[in-house]
Amino acid sequence: MALMTPEQFEASLKRLKPKVFMNGKRVPDILQNKNTRTVVEANKASYAWALDPRYREIMTCYSPLVEEVVNRYTYVSASIDDLVKKAEAGTFTAEMLGTCIYRCVGYDAFHALAATTWEMDRDLGTGYRPRFLEYLKMVQREDLSAAGALTEPRGSRSKKIVDWPDPYLALKVVEKNDQGIVVRGAKINISGAYASHELVVLPQGAHSEAEADYAVAFATPTDAPGITYVCQYSPYSAERDQAEDPEELGNPVFGQRETAMVIFDNVFVPWERVFHCGEYQYSGKMVARFARTHRMTCGGTCKVGFMNQIIGACKLIQEYKGLDKVAHINEQLTEMVVLRETGRACGQAAARQGKEEPPGSGVFLPDELMGNVAKLNICEAFWRVMALAGDIGGGLVVTMPSLKELKNPEVKDFMEEFYSFGSDEPTANILKVHKLLQHWTAGQHGVGTWHGAGPPATQRIAIQRTVNFEHEKELVKRTLNLREKEQKEK
Ligand SMILES: Cc1cc2nc3c(=O)[nH]c(=O)nc-3n(C[C@H](O)[C@H](O)[C@H](O)COP(=O)(O)OP(=O)(O)OC[C@H]3O[C@@H](n4cnc5c(N)ncnc54)[C@H](O)[C@@H]3O)c2cc1C
Repeated sequence: MALMTPEQFEASLKRLKPKVFMNGKRVPDILQNKNTRTVVEANKASYAWALDPRYREIMTCYSPLVEEVVNRYTYVSASIDDLVKKAEAGTFTAEMLGTCIYRCVGYDAFHALAATTWEMDRDLGTGYRPRFLEYLKMVQREDLSAAGALTEPRGSRSKKIVDWPDPYLALKVVEKNDQGIVVRGAKINISGAYASHELVVLPQGAHSEAEADYAVAFATPTDAPGITYVCQYSPYSAERDQAEDPEELGNPVFGQRETAMVIFDNVFVPWERVFHCGEYQYSGKMVARFARTHRMTCGGTCKVGFMNQIIGACKLIQEYKGLDKVAHINEQLTEMVVLRETGRACGQAAARQGKEEPPGSGVFLPDELMGNVAKLNICEAFWRVMALAGDIGGGLVVTMPSLKELKNPEVKDFMEEFYSFGSDEPTANILKVHKLLQHWTAGQHGVGTWHGAGPPATQRIAIQRTVNFEHEKELVKRTLNLREKEQKEK
């Protein structure tokens, strides 16, 4: 069976030597660093669930490609049922981790590549699709974790790539030879790549012939020569660095959401790993296919899981505070549930209305309209849930002292007395739940949810492109029996 154990996954990461920097220092071992370790733990959990009979149904599936059961995060959806399971997996992994499942962007990139390589081969006679499938077989058989990289540093947004002063603000092919290509540039905000085996790279902004060198998609081992990771570093990273005991933190094991800038300094990619190179007319299609898939995931699946964590914390705090029968708190909890279920409904609709795209390719993608609606809806819904949680949590969410004070002999008893809400609940539990809400409401998740899978303007543009309003106009014409233009002229 093509499934690694969590221990085998960890051992496989030990064999990789990614070049990683954080907080101005080299990270010699991502398995040891307290912040990068959270990504290792999150990916590792995905291996454990795949082998756990309770979660096998959601985390694995049969792949006809390799005729074996594989981890769902290595599989390209071939039916509506696959898309529905994909959506369910997004919610399951998010609520279990309370952070990103770092394999999700790679998973969505596989969908975009499977669809667009098929289309390029059909239209242009390129040989990308069999090449991609060989690569995917390897990923499935070896049960590899893949991160996905699309977002680029970019220059002035009012100019085209070729008019930027630095040609490498978008990832560029700088050499092609018999063996493969060499790329230079960077990708930014890339989730969890240094704790993955593979990095799947898609183009971002190549649209014209002059930008053909930027029309490139490929896969590379994450520790390939020339790749460097410059990790994010936030107050939450510093807090984790300094914590003596992870129990003091809002999400002890899996942390916040870890990303890095990935620098490609003349990285060689052999041809067998290149899936798009110069066919600029197809870059936009690849991005749009990735976007509709990833927006279903980010909008209608993982944020549903995140909301479950927030709602659970609010419900516990309501009970600790003896607010069970207070009408406005119950209304706020109801509102949260409605926002969560609206998010879930959008994700489910995107999956259930999914289509084979392009027809004949065998690849199923979520419905474009609902994929974008799912993400746009959740952008606002998530802020609202955060605001409601802040209200229920009270000021303590941001004013709470360190959990270390519970061990400080000079204030320990006062802590126990004054942060107990006079309840039977252990004070440590009360403070930990507030810390979890701090993590959600005063951490990186608001902006992360807003921008991950693209800011709302990009969803509005996609929706405007998808809906042509012919159906709606026709309805009104029929209802009012409006005359056609020719009739007026007569
Ligand atoms: C937590 C997190 C994880 C992420 N993980 C990944 C990942 O794994 N892989 C990956 O590839 N990406 C990832 N991203 C990147 C994410 O997709 C981008 O952050 C998002 O697309 C927004 O791009 P940006 O951050 O450059 O913001 P900007 O594009 O700078 O957006 C800022 C504002 O400028 C506006 N704007 C930007 N360009 C234009 C324009 N041309 N015309 C008009 N308005 C414009 C936007 O609408 C927005 O209002 C992640 C982001 C986050 C926050």
